[in-house]
Amino acid sequence: MIHQVASQKVYPIDNINSPYFDNLALKTKVTLGRCPICGNVTLFKWALSNYRETGKCYFCRDTNRKRQVGSIFLYSVYKSTGVKFSSVKTLAQKVSLLDQFTDFTIYNTETYGSIHEYLRDYPGYISSEYLDKSYQSGETINGVCHQDLTNTSFDDDSVNVLISSDCFEHIPDPYRAFEEVYRILKPGGRHVFTVPFYQDQYFDETRAYIDENGQLQHLLSPIYHSDPLRKEGILVYVIFSLEMLLKLRKIGYEVSMYNLRNPWFGILGNNALVFETIKPMEI
Ligand SMILES: [Zn+2]
Repeated sequence: MIHQVASQKVYPIDNINSPYFDNLALKTKVTLGRCPICGNVTLFKWALSNYRETGKCYFCRDTNRKRQVGSIFLYSVYKSTGVKFSSVKTLAQKVSLLDQFTDFTIYNTETYGSIHEYLRDYPGYISSEYLDKSYQSGETINGVCHQDLTNTSFDDDSVNVLISSDCFEHIPDPYRAFEEVYRILKPGGRHVFTVPFYQDQYFDETRAYIDENGQLQHLLSPIYHSDPLRKEGILVYVIFSLEMLLKLRKIGYEVSMYNLRNPWFGILGNNALVFETIKPMEI
């Protein structure tokens, strides 16, 4: 799978996308391919011009964005262990049986979707949600572990691979959370994530923040993303940009940005960006 991933570490990003197939996919509504999450040869259902949030897999129901995260997650696991898996489902089935995965912790910052469903029985799997500020990180409420990503309950150097899919834009102080992830990752550990990202801007767009009195302040009109846990949706505090790459480097990470395109894996559109940060090995 890795040769199908384009890794680019420089700006500007080449436009490697051909819109022809993408337009055709929207017209025909379905494309054939193989899902990197459930592993099935499947049909992807294209219903929105925002390709990132469409393309549901007939079998596992996950969308383009989740397949982007899933692909780089598999790549990260391969780089960490030397073991290649063709899908997240295959990984979940075999991971407990392999020596390379003794004490290998995978942390997902969401508790829904197929990646979570496949991995939930793996003993080295952790998942969490941010439920409410009244809870302490590590508390379990109705079977869901609450974690504030700016102050988690996990030990230093305890996680091998952390996955988050459009999560950090909802954190009022996202760089505090990136620092916290740095703390809990093992040396050599990786954080694979997507966030809304302006490919053509230098500075993050801070849309809202929490002031010194704990009050929510809006700088721009509020944007809410749909959220399985909250009917009203979830507020976007920040839309990231190139500034994010520099800030992550300053925290200490090695930073990669992947611009993906793979119609066979149901990955279309010109915004298929996945980020991977690595906490360097100790010298
Ligand atoms: Zn699938």
